[in-house]
Amino acid sequence: MTPIIIHAGLQSYEALVGSQLLEKAGALLARKIATSACAVVSDDNVAPLFAGRVLRSLTSAGFAPKLITVAPGEESKTLSAVEAVCDRMSNAGLDRSSILIALGGGVVGDLSGFVAAIYHRGIPYVQMPTTLLAQVDSSLGGKTAVNTVAGKNMIGAWHHPILVIADVETLTTLPPREWNQGFAEIIKHAIVRDAGMFEMLQQFDRSDLAALICRNIEIKGRIVATDERETRGERALLNFGHTVGHAIERAGEFCKFPHGEAVSLGIATACEISVRKAGLAERDRGRILSTLRAFDLPTLLPKDFPRRKIFEAIRSDKKFERREVRFVVTPALGSARLATDVTMEDIEAAIGTL
Ligand code: NAD
Repeated sequence: MTPIIIHAGLQSYEALVGSQLLEKAGALLARKIATSACAVVSDDNVAPLFAGRVLRSLTSAGFAPKLITVAPGEESKTLSAVEAVCDRMSNAGLDRSSILIALGGGVVGDLSGFVAAIYHRGIPYVQMPTTLLAQVDSSLGGKTAVNTVAGKNMIGAWHHPILVIADVETLTTLPPREWNQGFAEIIKHAIVRDAGMFEMLQQFDRSDLAALICRNIEIKGRIVATDERETRGERALLNFGHTVGHAIERAGEFCKFPHGEAVSLGIATACEISVRKAGLAERDRGRILSTLRAFDLPTLLPKDFPRRKIFEAIRSDKKFERREVRFVVTPALGSARLATDVTMEDIEAAIGTL
């Protein structure tokens, strides 16, 4: 297990990918931090599967862990869930010298990361991602957030973990639909940065999983290192498919489509716009759509889905700063750029083709 170093501004941290890492969590963490009080935040699906092993490992390494669980799913990415977790941490006597461990998928990671960013004005935290999506994407890069009625990830903070521990064995219990969510972000990484990985995905074999996760962590890590706070345009390329994807999640009231499926539909839209505005070859668009479908990801909206709600959600997206549309397009597989000539009409027309 070779650690992948993520450089982020003045900080850097390790991402560890391997097997039986839940059992080693305590020892791995003890090498990083000399404190004992810690909260392990998880959800009601993940905790029964893995929390016991993590708590035992932490306890035997000298930590005093307190398990806090939330309801599974996007409904827990809310300010009221943040308050509830903070209250339970206070009641457990956790203070500013404590640490937090996020054990779960992207929802637990985003929620817990935000709690860690604000609890006693900020405490260190560790990401222990248990979904493919979280291992290849959401556990890295320091974006933490919750949703509000105004939109997806509207309230959040930049807060990097001190360590990411991705135990690939946790993925064996993922339901098939959740497994596929991760491939939406993997295919996105391939489109914007790695045409070689796109080819590899055409004959994906599960025995290649750990290598695939490492490759994705490296891609995201390199982008975060060059543009930690998304100010130079580089990191914004990771939003490929996300402007429309987030709007679809919101239009579906965060329950109709899970994140990866919404991103898949967003990628299909971004490909349509890329053909029209960035010269993406029709053949490559076709290959991207068939790769999404090969992982059971949707490329068409249900006929009765209210498109109007998607348009409204896009108009109020925080990325549409000063009413200027900054849309990520791909001119060719393995590359992406920010376009400023994509109009709302272009986006609406592309969504109309889904
Ligand atoms: P999730 O966290 O809701 O997990 C999906 C489901 O799988 C949940 O029901 C969960 O309980 C269950 N689960 C998790 N691990 C399991 C396991 N090993 N075995 C069985 N069940 C398991 O969803 P997700 O797809 O992991 O994450 C989606 C979230 O990530 C979205 O809110 C999205 O906005 C966010 N995200 C954040 C970033 C970022 O940079 N911060 C990037 C991408 C996505």
